[in-house]
Amino acid sequence: MSAIENVIIIGSGPAGYTAALYAARADLNPLVFEGSQSGGQLMITTDVENYPGFPDGIMGPELMDQFRKQADRFGARLITTDVTEVDFGQRPFIVRAGADEYRAHTVIISTGATAKWLGIEGEERLTGRGVSACATCDGFFFRDKELIVVGGGDSAMEEAIFLTKFASKVTIVHRRDEFRASAIMAKRALEHPKIEVIWNAQVSEIHGTDEVTGVTLTDTTNGQTSEMAVDGVFVAIGHKPNTELFEGVIDLDDKGYIVLTDRSTRTNIEGVFAAGDVADSIYRQAITAAGSGCAAAIDAGNLLAELE
Ligand code: NAP
Repeated sequence: MSAIENVIIIGSGPAGYTAALYAARADLNPLVFEGSQSGGQLMITTDVENYPGFPDGIMGPELMDQFRKQADRFGARLITTDVTEVDFGQRPFIVRAGADEYRAHTVIISTGATAKWLGIEGEERLTGRGVSACATCDGFFFRDKELIVVGGGDSAMEEAIFLTKFASKVTIVHRRDEFRASAIMAKRALEHPKIEVIWNAQVSEIHGTDEVTGVTLTDTTNGQTSEMAVDGVFVAIGHKPNTELFEGVIDLDDKGYIVLTDRSTRTNIEGVFAAGDVADSIYRQAITAAGSGCAAAIDAGNLLAELE
């Protein structure tokens, strides 16, 4: 049977690698399941200009490579494998990756969240070339451009309002005739001089070769299509925390995010911690995820010291 690990870290975005770095430097010899696609959401971002310490910006994948190298340098053991099952009902905790079984005194969950996408023609191909799901990350690149924001919730309102700082015009495209967003956010967007709304419409195709040049809109009431020239499309139809593995295992909120206790990284199960976007529906930034990864490693280390 395998040795009992001090700490297993599941996930390899900014939260997971930072937890790994801190746990390694605390001599906890962490085992990190990076997943088959390591690096998290920054792997599909181009320039990251808001991560402190990089005044000239850095490409998302390169930043994650640096995170990884730093964790590796201090001895974090990194496995590029997906965790397929966890059992937190017994101690030590069990983490399975296919047929392999691992045991651990503590677990840090940092599996992140995934932006929901429309799944339409052109979307994936033009991601990072005018298609984005993060105005805070990419808005800056659209100075004096015309943009579309897809969605009718608070995220869409927030993204649209944020984008008016740069764009010459922002058009919110919503599939129904009323917003889901809170009244105050909707009012702010509706009253903004740079924001227009197209109701009852779905972006059904995104056009462009090297960058976005326009979209096809489909009227959701009668199916009629029309073309619209735009420079960028921000998809703001919500995020999905990557918590399928933990359903029925630990406490999740009604949107599926892991619930933390007392401003810590503790979950409802002693010894199981969570960090990054998997437990954060509000800030969702690389820097906040990294910060919470650090906190989770410290929380896990403190618990291990108590258990000793
Ligand atoms: P949300 O409330 O679930 O809204 C998603 C929006 O996207 C809805 O308007 C939905 O349309 C639309 N949508 C979903 N799938 C679509 C598709 N395939 N095609 C076209 N449109 C689609 O998600 P959210 O806006 O990200 O907000 C998530 C949570 O965070 C909410 O509780 C929100 O209040 C909160 N939040 C708060 C703030 C704030 O207070 N500052 C900011 C951001 C988020 P329908 O309306 O037709 O379903």
